[in-house]
This record gives sequence, structure tokens and C-alpha cells, in this order.
Amino acid sequence: MKQLRVDLHNHTVLCNHATGTTEDYIKRAIDLKIDIFGFSEHAPMNFDEKYRLKLQDKTFYENDVLSLKEKYKKDIKILLGYEVDYLKGDYILPEVIQSKVDYFIGSVHFINDGWGFDNPEFIGEYKNKDIDIIWQDYFEAIKAMVKTQKFDIVGHLDLIKVFKFLPNKDIKLIAQDALKQIKKANMVVEINSAGFRKPIGEQYPSKGLLELCFELDIPITFSSDAHSVDQVGLNYEKTTAIAKNIGYSKCTYFEQREKKEATF
Ligand SMILES: [Zn+2]
Ligand SMILES: [Zn+2]
Repeated sequence: MKQLRVDLHNHTVLCNHATGTTEDYIKRAIDLKIDIFGFSEHAPMNFDEKYRLKLQDKTFYENDVLSLKEKYKKDIKILLGYEVDYLKGDYILPEVIQSKVDYFIGSVHFINDGWGFDNPEFIGEYKNKDIDIIWQDYFEAIKAMVKTQKFDIVGHLDLIKVFKFLPNKDIKLIAQDALKQIKKANMVVEINSAGFRKPIGEQYPSKGLLELCFELDIPITFSSDAHSVDQVGLNYEKTTAIAKNIGYSKCTYFEQREKKEATF
């Protein structure tokens, strides 16, 4: 099995909250000797439209990534994906989920009827509800996302910790059902290094949840969730060290929605 450096979760300017050209992300990835580099733009949806790809830009995004994939194929393998939001209601667009992509990341950024809990603008909402209930609601949403069977990778599994508002209950107990569903659905969990740039100051998911993933034999992948060129590949060494410590030696990526394995 080949040893590869994989980074599957990266954004582009088209989501309106990222900077840098697609090509500059790729050049940075090549400099860092990343072997497999995937774009997973926030997919179009009729909710929170300001912070995501517009449906009318969808073809542009896909063609941009695919033409650069061809241009740089000798240096790096570029993959095309989407990060798709799951929230209660009928928000997943058929145009998105029918796209010919390498993979879909399923992410929960909204709970309790559209509360964007990871957005500093709405941080005040944490005061209005019991923190244990908020965490339970979040992992219920993760379970519902997994049960749709539409996605390949679970995005930032414990994003609800972003501002360091932690529950009183044992996190493993809150999350264990969701993890069993992830295993049953054959999904992959990403180790996302963006958390190092946030108040929580560590990767998603936590070491404890990753240990639970390992016990359940859930495959992992790596991602930097870059929203700027300097964030490409950031803290990769930290996340791989954590994964190795737990016992992982392989990571997974997808081509045309088919699982591939590599060592890391
Ligand atoms: Zn984003
Ligand atoms: Zn996300």
C-alpha cells in the first residue's frame, strides 16, 4: 500500500468566506507534497445562501477544479467534492446530490431550526439552552445526516465544541449512537485540523472520540478545511501523530465515490 498525504476538505472563494485562487491552493498543496488534494465547496442550498456556492456558479466550480486537475495531474491528484449541509427540512438540492463528484462530505452546521451554532454572530444562543441538550441535539442531527445515506465522509464530527462550551455528561456517551450509525452506514470520519485555529484549539474529532472510532473500526481521512492558501495542510503532522498514537495506519479517500486506501 502506498504512503500518501491526503487532504480532502478545502474551500474556494466561491463560498464567499474564503480567499485565494483555486490554483494557488493547488500550488501550495504541491509545495507541501500533498498527494491527494480535494476541494469540497459548501454546496448550494436555499438556506444561509450568503456563505456558500451559488447554484448558478456550480458548473463554474466543477469545471475550474476539473481543468486544474488535468493541468496539474503530473504533480498531484486533485479531487472534486462537496461539503453538504444537513439540517432538518428539505434542503438538499437534487442538483447537488446528483453531481458526478468523487465524494460528498456531510456536515452539520445548524441545529434547533436553523441556529448556526459555529458562527460567532450567534454565540449568544448558547446561553438559552442546557449545554447537555445542545450537544445531544447536535449528535441527533449527525445521526439523521448519516441515516440519509447520501454522504461518504462525516465532516468535523464534534464541531459543536468549537467555542469550548463542553457538556457535563460524558461526550463518548452522547456520541456513541451516532458513531454506531456511522459504522453501519460505512462512512469515513475526517480528522479535521481547522479546530486548531478555533477557540477549542484541537482537531475534530477529539482524541476520545477518535479512540471510539478506532474501536468501532471506522475508517479515517485527513483534512485541513482550508479557507485560505496559508491554511492548506496546516497542522497535518499533529493530526497524523494523534491518529498513529491511537493505532490508525491507513487513511481513506474517494474517487468517483469509490473508497481507496493508503498509508499515511
Ligand atoms: Zn466554510
Ligand atoms: Zn464545515
